[in-house]
Amino acid sequence: MKNIIFLAPPAAGKGTFSEYLVDNYGYTHLSTGDLLREEAEENEELKEFLKSGKLVDDKLIIDLVEKKLKKLAKTQPFVLDGVPRTLQQAQKLDIILNGLGFLNVVAVLIDVEITTLVDRVVGRKVCPNCHKNYNTIIKEFQPRIDNVCDDCGATLITRSDDNLESFEVRYHEYEESVSPILAFYKAKGCLKVLYNNKVDQTEALKSLRSIVDEH
Ligand code: AMP
Repeated sequence: MKNIIFLAPPAAGKGTFSEYLVDNYGYTHLSTGDLLREEAEENEELKEFLKSGKLVDDKLIIDLVEKKLKKLAKTQPFVLDGVPRTLQQAQKLDIILNGLGFLNVVAVLIDVEITTLVDRVVGRKVCPNCHKNYNTIIKEFQPRIDNVCDDCGATLITRSDDNLESFEVRYHEYEESVSPILAFYKAKGCLKVLYNNKVDQTEALKSLRSIVDEH
């Protein structure tokens, strides 16, 4: 199976697709956002910084990811969600993946219109325990019981950066940085595009499955 690097604007569905790969294909999900939020529980400065939606330092991210990748067996497929977010991260990540022998890698751009992204951000709720995503605006993604995780029963929370102000910063950062990253993976011949603009994700999941199964 392919190792996957998701490239996407905020709230495009990286988390949801990653969960799908974990549940259905046994992938390991490495989310830099989740790793940072965990670290921020014991680091007030980082907690405040994450609220802003600005990018943290490249070196911090790369060290974090390298540490996690080193612990994976070579046969364990993984999905990277949230990294790279800069060209420098893409280049460093490439060196690390090659060095560790992870060669079967594909970068997947999740393409979504901005109006859809705004609905997803404003309505998003997450489980602080198992990280499952919900949405209070989009019917199909509401939890069975208001504010309660379907899977583990924890009380759902709104991420501190899921507001319009922070979304605008994050979307702007994304737009500024994504072109050279896409060009980088295109030149390597391992870039795929996945459209995820509909509420019904059947087609998007079908495309994802075909990417995963491709040899
Ligand atoms: P996410 O959950 O992927 O939206 O990430 C949440 C926040 O964590 C981002 O707004 C950034 O502040 C930070 N972050 C996550 N991944 C990265 C990265 N690769 N480079 C820099 N900052 C990151």
